[in-house]
Amino acid sequence: MTKKITFPHIGSYYIPIKYLIKKTTLCEVIVPPKITKKTIELGSKYSPDYVCVPFKYNLGNFIESIELGANVILQAGGGCRYGYYAELQEQILKDLGYNIEFVNFIKNNRVSIFNIYKYVKKVNPKLNIFKYFYYLINTILMVIIMDKLQKNMRENMGFEVLENSFNKIEQKLFEELQGKINPLKLFRIYRKYKKEYKNCPINKPNDCLKVGIVGELYSIMEPYCSCFIEKKLALKGIEVKRFTTVTYLLLEKQHNIKRLLKKGKKYLKYHLGADATESVVLTEELAKQGFDGIIHIKSFGCTPELNAMPILSKVSEDYGIPIIYFSFDSQDSEVGIETRLEAFYDMIIAKKKK
Ligand code: SF4
Repeated sequence: MTKKITFPHIGSYYIPIKYLIKKTTLCEVIVPPKITKKTIELGSKYSPDYVCVPFKYNLGNFIESIELGANVILQAGGGCRYGYYAELQEQILKDLGYNIEFVNFIKNNRVSIFNIYKYVKKVNPKLNIFKYFYYLINTILMVIIMDKLQKNMRENMGFEVLENSFNKIEQKLFEELQGKINPLKLFRIYRKYKKEYKNCPINKPNDCLKVGIVGELYSIMEPYCSCFIEKKLALKGIEVKRFTTVTYLLLEKQHNIKRLLKKGKKYLKYHLGADATESVVLTEELAKQGFDGIIHIKSFGCTPELNAMPILSKVSEDYGIPIIYFSFDSQDSEVGIETRLEAFYDMIIAKKKK
């Protein structure tokens, strides 16, 4: 049977993931359709009630991709309960009668690049380790470029003079990243788009409102899951800062926890798990930098972030920085989120005027 491979969606990272799978396996890749209400409805329908939202989104992605012809599912992740989700998702899909191959790259709650190599070598025996690393490096470079440019977007998109100009540049960037690439070309793409973003006309006051986003990685990086909160903030003319990106998770997180614990020793003695240590320490850092407010986002049922919340309230009290908490589930109403965001916006404006 010809393999048609799919994987879970997370923001725009489907571009580098698709590249890596296609180049290393030479198989057809089925990118899950963009997340919609249908995705989360499908995922929730077949998920246990107690699981956190990323599980439901992933399951919805898998079912939608299978309906498009996918017969191989790749799952990776770890660091928290996510590391144990693959087995359960495989069982649910098999119980639903889907004839699929479920490939789990998670071992000891971690993803190893050598496990991935072993699998792709089995699928494509002609692939050698040098080629694998070449494609892997291109993938990582692609991720770094996307993250660097999107950081610029978050900081400036709220002040664009021409409506949608940042989004248009981003769409062009994505198209170019999906063409033929090599490290030199990627470097040129980065320089070209860095310049385009820099030249994009903005009208940004020196004392604009600045808000930091901290919290659980999936809700932060999949815009649908957080009801497009970053775009909503941009529409209000707010500069947004967030640290959690795939670049951070791949290249820094592992070595960062000890440093973070040292930095945040006033509030933490031990790592809280998943992204919760970052939530506390980075909130304190942003408060010290004079940010106007913090948005803490997590998915419903996320234990590490639940543990961080009382500590965040203490940071908020100590530094006088307002924090709003959003807990996203499968049935969030966009209107409810907008109303709370509006109240938060009024509060930080009033505080800034004082
Ligand atoms: S960090 Fe929280 S929401 Fe995300 S997968 Fe882990 S437990 Fe679930």
